[in-house]
Amino acid sequence: MKIAIIGAGPGGLVTALCLHRLGIECHIFEAAPEIRPLGVGLNLLPHAIRELTILGLAERLAALGVATAELSYYNKFGAKSGESREVWLLATAGHSTHSTVAVSR
Ligand SMILES: Cc1cc2nc3c(=O)[nH]c(=O)nc-3n(C[C@H](O)[C@H](O)[C@H](O)COP(=O)(O)OP(=O)(O)OC[C@H]3O[C@@H](n4cnc5c(N)ncnc54)[C@H](O)[C@@H]3O)c2cc1C
Repeated sequence: MKIAIIGAGPGGLVTALCLHRLGIECHIFEAAPEIRPLGVGLNLLPHAIRELTILGLAERLAALGVATAELSYYNKFGAKSGESREVWLLATAGHSTHSTVAVSR
């Protein structure tokens, strides 16, 4: 069986790594001519850390990144956004065994 994965975003790449571990051949098709980094850094939330840990990347992540103590979002007036706090609580709920890690690009 050979699987076609459309898109080399995080979803496609992690799917490819999982299939590779299972010994299933796959081919990734990406529309973008080149893959380039975007932005300054990546904030990896607990559910992403869990998946990367399953893929055996926990130690490399720990060496590359910084465990996040607090995540705060501010609006253009410098005020903390309450809505983002709710998103943060939602993202971390039920993932107490995996922290959040910030990685510089
Ligand atoms: C500026 C910015 C900063 C972000 N920072 C963070 C962060 O710090 N932490 C975090 O968790 N999330 C962050 N996100 C969100 C994160 O990037 C997305 O949640 C994530 O990329 C979604 O992954 P995906 O694989 O589902 O989709 P995508 O990353 O969108 O990947 C889809 C891929 O499929 C390709 N594609 C689409 N159609 C086709 C086609 N027909 N044929 C072939 N290829 C195709 C696209 O070119 C793309 O490369 C950020 C997003 C942005 C825009």
